[in-house]
Amino acid sequence: MSYRHLFGPVPSRRLGISLGIDLVPLKTCSYNCVYCECGPTTALTTERKEYVPTGDVIAELRSYLSTSPRLDYVTFAGSGEPTLHTGIGEIIRTVKSEFPAYRVAVLTNGSLLPDPAVRRALLDADLVVPTLNAVSDTPFWKICRPHRSLSAEAHIDGLVTFRNEFRGEIWLEVFIVPGVNDDDAEIGKIAAAVREIRPDRVQLNTLDRPGAAAWVRPADRPTLDHIASLITAAPVDIVGDLPSRAEIDSFHQESADTILALVRRRPCTLDDLTHATGMHRNEVGKYLQYLLENHLVEAKREGRGIFFLSVS
Ligand code: SF4
Repeated sequence: MSYRHLFGPVPSRRLGISLGIDLVPLKTCSYNCVYCECGPTTALTTERKEYVPTGDVIAELRSYLSTSPRLDYVTFAGSGEPTLHTGIGEIIRTVKSEFPAYRVAVLTNGSLLPDPAVRRALLDADLVVPTLNAVSDTPFWKICRPHRSLSAEAHIDGLVTFRNEFRGEIWLEVFIVPGVNDDDAEIGKIAAAVREIRPDRVQLNTLDRPGAAAWVRPADRPTLDHIASLITAAPVDIVGDLPSRAEIDSFHQESADTILALVRRRPCTLDDLTHATGMHRNEVGKYLQYLLENHLVEAKREGRGIFFLSVS
């Protein structure tokens, strides 16, 4: 069977060996984050619908999981916001009832959690990883560039309500954009929100390959350490401390080599590499990140987007 909605398994720093499920078309999202590695959002929306047939996704999962693959997580991720899909709850319940050995994770921006139907849909997941980048309006709008109907206040309320209803783990991701949400005043507000939300962990993240906006820079390590020291209500992971992707079992050196061979021939965008390899763009992204970290590839922003080229 060829899979249209599944990708990987990908070597994930946070989730080990992760089978990805992509439920919405490329860059269909309620946010247009300045750091998004998938590029600018093309469909900025909060409309929930069946973007791809639920039955097709379930059929692919049944086919794949019935082979008993070794996985740490079945993960709703991809290149848009998975909770926009109205079938996500049914898909999660199907995996948990028919393949209970597998843990289910949902990577979400969390913006739709004020909606009770979205919260109900996620109740059977084992792990939800929502984002909280800012409490104040200015950094919220500057970083997330959300759909106009959304607000930071409603976002936090949605997270608090979800925590009260959800029995699984919540790892709250905070993406630091220097000059926007890294000052002590904003971090103090985020730390207070963490006390209210009561996540199991906080994950501090920062840019590790070029994102949608050219002006965004990574936060340096001392800044991340300082921010971590201000958040005291939950254990804080700094994403750079997690194991490198090459140490994860699903890492395939051939995939990294294929991408390296392509960029050696000529500079390529993420789209070029996705088309050339037939891999999902998130999977290509994981290998690109490994190649960047190992200084085998560098990224350059040009008129047509971000190009990856080999470091000779
Ligand atoms: S980072 Fe996630 S939430 Fe932000 S625009 Fe990209 S897909 Fe949407």
